Amino acid sequence: MVEEIVKIISNESDLTEEEVVEKIENKEKEFKGLVSGEGAAHLVAKELGVDIVEDVDKELKIESIVPGMSKTNVKAKIIDITDTHTFERSGEDEEEGKVRNLVLGDSTGTLRMSLWDEQTEVAEKLDKGDVIEITNAYTREDNRGNAELRIGNNTKIKRIDEEIEAVKKSSSGRGSYKKVSINEIQNENNYVEVSGQVVQIYTKNPFYRRCPDCDSTLRKDDEYKCKEHGDVNPVYKIALPIILDDGVGNIRCIVFNETAKKVLGAENIEFNGDVDKISMYAEESIGKRVKVKGRTQFNDFFNTNEIVVNDIELPETVSLIKEKLEEIKSG
Ligand SMILES: [Zn+2]
Repeated sequence: MVEEIVKIISNESDLTEEEVVEKIENKEKEFKGLVSGEGAAHLVAKELGVDIVEDVDKELKIESIVPGMSKTNVKAKIIDITDTHTFERSGEDEEEGKVRNLVLGDSTGTLRMSLWDEQTEVAEKLDKGDVIEITNAYTREDNRGNAELRIGNNTKIKRIDEEIEAVKKSSSGRGSYKKVSINEIQNENNYVEVSGQVVQIYTKNPFYRRCPDCDSTLRKDDEYKCKEHGDVNPVYKIALPIILDDGVGNIRCIVFNETAKKVLGAENIEFNGDVDKISMYAEESIGKRVKVKGRTQFNDFFNTNEIVVNDIELPETVSLIKEKLEEIKSG
């Protein structure tokens, strides 16, 4: 993990890998055990202005699929296909709408894929028990905060001759959160409570866009146009990756919307897609001490567990890292 970050930093800066490693080690010493090696690596990346970009374009396990993703690829078994449900469209469009859902499963969880209107024909060619490969799909958040898979113009679905064992049902709801230190997190789909300091906030791509009329995700590939409503004034939703460090380890956490605003100290602020504005708040929030509750999931891209945050608290403890950073800045 640190090695990967070292490579990225080296590629994106003038430094050799050895020089990057040295910088990270110095950073670690500077913080005297307050941050782990990986946390130090993120701090170095930040100092050098290197964004550790994440672009999802590889096959994912269902547990790693979160709302607001583009280019989502997944292999899964069809657990269920619902009947077609028709509904009336609001507005002048008299055409009846159709929706049909596939429930997909793999060894890590289940995921709903919704098919709209003419897309529902896809389901005619598929059966329960089929294993399918889906490429270039995208996700949106359903009304329970879970990811829902959607298909777009470039999505391909094909039946494959591969056996996939699917879990029987999705993880049983949110039980109690177990208090753990970051290095104890080994498995996905656990509900955990972790306290630590925010050592990095990624604001390269903090927003995803929704259509104000039908709530569907507006994608860059479609020039942010709604398939149904064309050019619209998007509703901006926040999905912010942060790195939390508790001194013995660190973990990537994803905070959404109100939870994200909480960590940014921006509860009453409307960002409306303003990246500079959110970056400003993010900058001020590095070093904050937070307690997060959420579900662990495996991130294939980073090859490590991360936390999808459901709740965040900011105890008033003065942040040592923040003081330290200010010292460095002024010093
Ligand atoms: Zn729309």
